[in-house]
Amino acid sequence: SSSDPIATGSLARRKSRIAVVSYGGREVRIGGDAPVVVQSMTNTDTADVIGTAIQIKELARAGSEMVRITVNTPEAAAAVPAICEQLDKMDIVVPLVGDFHYNGHKLLNDYPDCAKALAKYRINPGNVGKGNKRDTQFAQMIETACRFDKPVRIGVNWGSLDQELLARIMDENAARTNPWTAQAVMYEALVTSAIENALRAEEVGLAGDRIILSCKVSGVQDLIAVYRELARRCDYPLHLGLTEAGMGSKGIVASTAALSVLLQEGIGDTIRISLTPEPGGDRTREVIVGQEILQTMGLRKFTPMVIACPGCGRTTSTVFQELADGIQTYLRDQMPVWKKQYPGVEAMNVAVMGCIVNGPGESKHANIGISLPGTGESPAAPVFVDGEKTVTLRGDNIAAEFHAIVLDYVKT
Ligand code: SF4
Repeated sequence: SSSDPIATGSLARRKSRIAVVSYGGREVRIGGDAPVVVQSMTNTDTADVIGTAIQIKELARAGSEMVRITVNTPEAAAAVPAICEQLDKMDIVVPLVGDFHYNGHKLLNDYPDCAKALAKYRINPGNVGKGNKRDTQFAQMIETACRFDKPVRIGVNWGSLDQELLARIMDENAARTNPWTAQAVMYEALVTSAIENALRAEEVGLAGDRIILSCKVSGVQDLIAVYRELARRCDYPLHLGLTEAGMGSKGIVASTAALSVLLQEGIGDTIRISLTPEPGGDRTREVIVGQEILQTMGLRKFTPMVIACPGCGRTTSTVFQELADGIQTYLRDQMPVWKKQYPGVEAMNVAVMGCIVNGPGESKHANIGISLPGTGESPAAPVFVDGEKTVTLRGDNIAAEFHAIVLDYVKT
């Protein structure tokens, strides 16, 4: 064996400036040593005030700490203050980020109430206008941000990369003795676009601590490479997300794979998981996945974690799956209330195990654990609280009795 203990591991966060997003007398801090922020985006038509306000409410209630809405038309821009009013009526306080493309300069200029109501703007430098109009339109948006004292994310996306800048970088590459690969040129264009536009925003007058950068791509390895370079070349806070991650488990796995590597390296100050909702699917899933990535990595705590074994041929009935699923849902549903009443409850662990093989051992490591009886075991489910066996449950009412034990534990 080694003479030294195995390193327990700690995540050193990349040093960055802190951008403050203010809203309703509160603030969200992005960067520095502030907790990594989970955000999401609506998919309603922003001009639909009620529909958008309801979805924002759902996302905020699920734990989204910022919500982005597209501001793509005059109708959408005009709707933003009304959406804020609706949110006030519903007692929802969450910063709204306006997503601007193509006509952002015009909308921000023509709808000052919208510009004022938003807590932050996202500008995509890839579609700010062409040729000499580009500089003027970009400056117009930054000047509005300065006037209303709003932070800005300069959000580059390789699906809408600035083609003039790409052509310039390709020309520079062609002049090299040993030209870079097309992939390396693309990475360079993404990173350059983000940094050059951030510097331009500072020249126009936006303070350096009002800028957040992102460079989204849809490939896991591409995202990791691009963000490592972006992190190396600047100290602006970074918004992390795999764009167009896709549907179902693929979207979740790809986002988790990419973001985990970067977060483990201390890169990333706010995250958005871009999942394509399944028909009729719930938009809040992307918020829960974002929280789960951060919590399972030990970066933040949002809701008590349920540790459950996968079950196998030793599990005798569906009681085990129902109990594991039921307790997870119960804990998540209670959190909005519990968080206010019982501070620190989110750090709790609950274990639900299917049989005696790992059941008692894993249950003892959790704050509360239950080990259900497997095949051939006596029909008894010992419950462990803070490592000690306290009671053994039997019969048909195990789930309800276990919920009651969890609730008692939370209250004390
Ligand atoms: Fe199977 Fe028991 Fe392990 Fe669960 S704890 S996976 S039921 S052996």
